[in-house]
Amino acid sequence: MSRIDDIDAIRAEFPQLARIIHGKPLVYFDNANTAQKPHAVIAAVSGYFSEHNGNVARAVHTLGEEATSLYEGARDKLMRFVGARSREEIVLTRGTTESINLVAYSFLRPTLKPGDEILVSRMEHHSNIVPWQLVAAETGAIVVPAPITDRGELDVDGMIALMNSRTRLVGLTHVSNALGTINPIKTIIDAAAARAIPTLIDGSQAAPHFKIDVAALNCDFYVLTGHKLFAPTGTGALIAKRAHLDAMPPFMGGGEMIRRVSFEGTSFNDPPHKFEPGTPNIAGFIGLGAAIDWLDAVGMDAIAARETHLRDVMLSALHEIPGLRLIGAARERAAVFSFVVDGAHAHDIATLLDQEGVAVRSGHHCTHPTMQFFGLPATVRASLSFYNTEAEIAAFVAALAKVRRMLA
Ligand SMILES: *Cc1c(COP(=O)(O)O)cnc(C)c1O
Repeated sequence: MSRIDDIDAIRAEFPQLARIIHGKPLVYFDNANTAQKPHAVIAAVSGYFSEHNGNVARAVHTLGEEATSLYEGARDKLMRFVGARSREEIVLTRGTTESINLVAYSFLRPTLKPGDEILVSRMEHHSNIVPWQLVAAETGAIVVPAPITDRGELDVDGMIALMNSRTRLVGLTHVSNALGTINPIKTIIDAAAARAIPTLIDGSQAAPHFKIDVAALNCDFYVLTGHKLFAPTGTGALIAKRAHLDAMPPFMGGGEMIRRVSFEGTSFNDPPHKFEPGTPNIAGFIGLGAAIDWLDAVGMDAIAARETHLRDVMLSALHEIPGLRLIGAARERAAVFSFVVDGAHAHDIATLLDQEGVAVRSGHHCTHPTMQFFGLPATVRASLSFYNTEAEIAAFVAALAKVRRMLA
């Protein structure tokens, strides 16, 4: 028996899930946008401010030491959570976006030449496209899109066929935030490694849902974001092979990232501190550490099993709704569903669903190229987490039926 089997007790740990919105119990189906936080995370953040507030890595007094050990403790927890080989491989960042920019500017830009290629799939979040375009524009390199299929799956052979001697990096999302597709990342990582091409995997939508093992994956870079992992915003990580971090120049300069500064020359701290200038989001990372403890206690396998069940229930429910078209039909998928409804705008559906207490996202989900592929300006996206229930799926279906009657 896992703790997750008592779903009422689990839900009671997330205070926001008890909210009443427009007179209706909240149905929070916007987890791919940001996840709700359990009491344990809220208490860790507030406990830091009420008891341990001090700066990290520079004070010898008790509060500074407490803050440092809590902050560095979060790094250790994250290291174990993702199966990294050492704590030096974990660079703490503001989130996925900063992590990818760090790789683009520090790892790739110094050696990019005209004609070099950066290969990413057509289902990437803008965070895994735009940083590459910026460094490509400066250097004359080009960003090459790898094809996807009408099912919203990666064209694996198509992506591998685009790997060549000019390819300097392959970037791929582990799970698509727009389509829910779970990509066969190991196949791509191995194919790239066989050609000595480094890989970056965007794990923003994977880490909250199933166990990650970066050592087994053997990618060069794995990035994730804390706020989708039940932790505060402004937290995240770049998990990188140590050799890369040793070779990479600093991205931003400041305090904490140096060993010695003089006007004749400055020597830099070792990774990961070399990439963490200035005072970090201490409270946020303490919250991230608490989130990981919480997830470990519940068990990622139990979480994944429950979400697979919810996914299947949601999928059958969506298939029953006339006039609703699911975007993407990947065989391997997470509990993330993009859809459009005949004769109704995505924003209108989302706005009216909110009146029924149902929170979903509408828009392009920061994936313009994916939307362009499907010829759509926007979709409605419902994204579930383990704390959602079958009753909420039923409430969502009823609310959607009501909204469609209103829009008809
Ligand atoms: C949310 C998300 C991002 C951006 O992460 P932030 O930390 O919020 O900047 C990038 N990629 C994917 C797949 C995402 O879902």
